[in-house]
Amino acid sequence: MKVLFLAAEAAPLVKVGGLGDVAGELPRALTELGIDVRLAIPRYPQLADQVRGRAPRAVVDVPRPSGPLKAEVHEATMRGVRTWLIGGDPIDRVPSVYGGEAADASKFIFFVVGALQACRATGWQPDVVHANDWHTAPALAWMRTVGDGWESTGAVLTIHNLAYMGAGGSDALREYGLPPADHSMLPDWARLLPLPLGMAHADAITAVSPGYAAEIQTPAFGCGLESFLASRPDVLRGILNGIDPDVWDPSHDPWLVAAFDRRSIASRASNKADLQCAVGLPVEPRTPLLAMITRLEMQKGVDLAMGALGQLAGRCWQLVLLGTGDPALEDRASAFAAREPQRVRFLPTFDAELARRIYAGTDMILVPSRYEPCGLVQMIGMRYGAVPIVRATGGLKDTVVAYGREGPGTGFLFGPAEPQALAEAVHQALDVYQDPRAWRGLQQRGMAQDFSWGRSARAYADLYGEIAAGRISSRGGDQ
Ligand code: ADP
Repeated sequence: MKVLFLAAEAAPLVKVGGLGDVAGELPRALTELGIDVRLAIPRYPQLADQVRGRAPRAVVDVPRPSGPLKAEVHEATMRGVRTWLIGGDPIDRVPSVYGGEAADASKFIFFVVGALQACRATGWQPDVVHANDWHTAPALAWMRTVGDGWESTGAVLTIHNLAYMGAGGSDALREYGLPPADHSMLPDWARLLPLPLGMAHADAITAVSPGYAAEIQTPAFGCGLESFLASRPDVLRGILNGIDPDVWDPSHDPWLVAAFDRRSIASRASNKADLQCAVGLPVEPRTPLLAMITRLEMQKGVDLAMGALGQLAGRCWQLVLLGTGDPALEDRASAFAAREPQRVRFLPTFDAELARRIYAGTDMILVPSRYEPCGLVQMIGMRYGAVPIVRATGGLKDTVVAYGREGPGTGFLFGPAEPQALAEAVHQALDVYQDPRAWRGLQQRGMAQDFSWGRSARAYADLYGEIAAGRISSRGGDQ
């Protein structure tokens, strides 16, 4: 089985959010199952050093009605996975990984067509092309419309976040000669948008948790595509993301002052003191420390967290908030931290090392998302002994078991996306924190969870197998 895995980011080379973690870890898990994987990512300007002085493995033409462009294909091995870095003018012209959906569309279409052409140029024909999110979804449409000789290759699309569809990408799709989808269940506005176009041509669509797969078939989460998705139940399934236990391992994490595992959890205390000290909070071992590590977007409920903690003024707690994003939310977070200088720190930056020290030092990790396709933060938190407080939605409710409900549980959940509901969950967590034995039990159960990729990788492998055997296909269907 040969699989071309397309993603806009893959850790450790380039990571902006959870997609980077997944594309950095899942291809490796698939490789371990014996699948021949090529991971392809764009060669962003920031990756120039990775290829400097090395001859490309291939130089390919990326066809367009207005004339072809040249793409360079460099090959590297990243954590045991053969990786293609696809470079060229449209990618070099945008300085950051994401420069806005409209600005990025052209560079991502160039990237995926370059990757498909690289298969031809190297004589490596995949059985399945697996695209991820709107950035790479057009690959599936290109295979089925513009490209020649892709009829027998399966097309899988994973949705990591349905809300980002590549708005403003229609001109770029036209630039590369891609026609609108004519699937009868797709609304008109979606026919020439990167993500829905890829969905229309996919043999299988996966969402990154069973919970989210169900939610996106409803108006509240379907972003206008719920009818289309609900009309394809045979095609849509939820496969939970994992985390790589070697990448996220508190017993071997070089950034921590004290290594620990489930049996030596008392050593965590040093990491808490280190964190409090590093961010300039009072070093108080018994003060409950809460943290958020997040993109600052409305999706993530940072405003709910600030509202909830505002209602808990009389209780003892500290908060570390690490994240960047929406300038208006950054302003609100700065104002919140300024009002609570004794117990709130806001760090408006992306810092992978500090994130690890936070996971290892915080008592509680907050994930109050309005919607959450899967969410890695709560899983990484549990692996590092931080107790999650999450909203009961999408992948959060698939991965966190409520304390005291079905047995002793692994964290705290709340329902309505309102500060009051979150405040009640934090109240409960602060109460349980006062009972060290109960708290330790929560931490140890969280650390004992198996979120490794094995099961998910096997689910993807089964899916590829079903497609290759022709049991799932949209070819010849309603296109
Ligand atoms: P999303 O992909 O929606 O951003 P996830 O929970 O799936 O959310 O994954 C987020 C990933 O990005 C996690 O690995 C988290 O640790 C990391 N992350 C988010 N914000 C930051 C930040 N400011 N600094 C470092 N890492 C971050």
